[in-house]
Amino acid sequence: MKSFKINNGYLLRLDKGEEVVSSVLNFVEDEGIGSAMVTAIGAVTDCVLGYFDRERKTYLNKNFNDIYELVSLNGNITFFDGKPVLHAHVCLGNPHFEIFGGHFFSGMVAVTAEIFIIETGSRITRAHNAELDLNLIDSEENG
Ligand code: ZN
Repeated sequence: MKSFKINNGYLLRLDKGEEVVSSVLNFVEDEGIGSAMVTAIGAVTDCVLGYFDRERKTYLNKNFNDIYELVSLNGNITFFDGKPVLHAHVCLGNPHFEIFGGHFFSGMVAVTAEIFIIETGSRITRAHNAELDLNLIDSEENG
């Protein structure tokens, strides 16, 4: 990983073999970053995507083990139980220019990943919502 400080955040370059979600979360913890917007492009493999089944209150997961263009990753950093959480959705492109998309659980960098982390200057926390069995954005923490 290579990181560059920019106005209001960071630009990261992840390299082949690095896992996207854990790399971002480790960086956020190490740098003491608060809530942020996260956006990325690159190429990834061995991804796990989810689709939230509202009736069953659980994610249907699917593995994507080929090499894909990371056409788009959009997400945010918030906090739950004092720990940073990356909530991100992705679009993955295959060699036939078809797109797969969903909630992003994990993925390995296949070529490179270029990730902007734009800090909001706040620290937004999540709280568990029993009706949905999800941790929803809830409030702003002081300090
Ligand atoms: Zn999601």
